[in-house]
Amino acid sequence: MTNQNVIVSDRKPILGLKTITVSVSNSSLFSSSPPTAYFTFPRRKFLKLHEDNLGAAKIASWVDSMRDSSPTRLRSSSHDSVSDNDDKTSWIVRFPSALSMFDEIVNAAKGKTIVMFLDYDGTLSPIVEDPDKAYITHEMRDVVKDVALNFPTAIVTGRSIDKVRSFVKLNEIYYAGSHGMDIESPSNENTYGERKQGVLFQPARDFIPMIEKVVKILEEKTKWIPGAMVENNKFCLSVHFRRVDEKRWAALAEQVKSVLVDYPTLKLTQGRKVLEIRPTIKWDKGQALNFLLKSLGFENSEDVLPVYIGDDRTDEDAFKVLRERGQGFGILVSKVPKDTNASYSLQDPSQVSEFLKRLVEWNRKTVGEE
Ligand SMILES: [Mg+2]
Repeated sequence: MTNQNVIVSDRKPILGLKTITVSVSNSSLFSSSPPTAYFTFPRRKFLKLHEDNLGAAKIASWVDSMRDSSPTRLRSSSHDSVSDNDDKTSWIVRFPSALSMFDEIVNAAKGKTIVMFLDYDGTLSPIVEDPDKAYITHEMRDVVKDVALNFPTAIVTGRSIDKVRSFVKLNEIYYAGSHGMDIESPSNENTYGERKQGVLFQPARDFIPMIEKVVKILEEKTKWIPGAMVENNKFCLSVHFRRVDEKRWAALAEQVKSVLVDYPTLKLTQGRKVLEIRPTIKWDKGQALNFLLKSLGFENSEDVLPVYIGDDRTDEDAFKVLRERGQGFGILVSKVPKDTNASYSLQDPSQVSEFLKRLVEWNRKTVGEE
C-alpha cells in the first residue's frame, strides 16, 4: 500500500533560518524509507502565512464564531449562522433532513456497500461542559454496534483514539483519531484471547514530542484562566473553551496564539468551543475518509456509498471529499443554519440515532429479501 506523505519540517533552529523544507514521500506507509523529494521555499513567506494564521483579526473572528456556534446564542450577525426564519426555511430546503430524505438515501445505496463514517463529539454524544464527560448513551452504543455489524464503520474524531475508545467501548469499528492522523482497524482476538487493534496509519508520528511540549507550555500559560482545559490528543491538541467564562475567551485565545508563534510547523484550527493545534501536514478528516475507503478496497469502486455524519468545521473536509468523489452523502448535525458541503442535515445526536436505527432496519430487511 502506498501513499504520498507530505511533511513540513523546520529542520534548523528557528532563529537565523532562511528556508523551510517540505519533504514529499511516496514510500510505503509502513516503511521508514526516506522521502523522495524536498521542496524549499523562503522562510519569510512561510512565517508570514503562519503569522496571518495567528493575527489579531483572526483570533477575534474565532472567538465570535465560537459564540455563534453555541446553541444558546443564535446571532443573525454571524458569517455562517443565521437565525432569521426565512433563512432557516431556505436552508432546510437546501440541506433537508436525512430522516425525511431517507428513501432517497437508501435508493442510492441499492447494490452498493454503505461505509459509515461518524464523528464523535456533537454527533454521537452531546457537547457537554466537561469534555472528559462526553459520554454516549447505552442506546447510542448499541445503535453504533448494530451499524458496525451491518456496514464497515469508522469513528473519525479530533480526540485521541485512546480517549474516544474509552467512551465508545466497541471493538467492531475503525477508529481514526487525532483528525485522522491515527488510524486503527477493528480489533481481533488472538489465540490467547487477547484483543489487538491494528495500527493502519500514523502520518504525524514525528510530531509527538513537540505536541507533548506544547501541551505542557499551554497548561502552564492557561492555568490562571478558570475552566481552561488543554487536552493532549497525541498527534494534535485541543484547548477547550466550554467551561471558560465568555469574557475570558479572547484572553485564552491570545495565550494560545502567543505559544504558537514559536512553532511554525504547527497550525491552529477552530471548532465548537475549542481551538485545536495540529501539525501542518496535509492530512485531515477528508484524507482519512479516502484512506479508509482505499484500505477497504473501494478506492476506484462504483459499488460503494460512503455516508459521513459530523457537526463541526473539521468535518467539512470530509464532506468536501465526498462531493469531489461524487459519491455518498455528507450529513451535517446542526440546529442552526450553517455554510456546509454536506448534502443533508440532522438536528442532534438523538436524530443521528434515529437515522442509524432506520438504516440498520432497512439493511436487515433488504438482506432478508435477497
Ligand atoms: Mg464533532
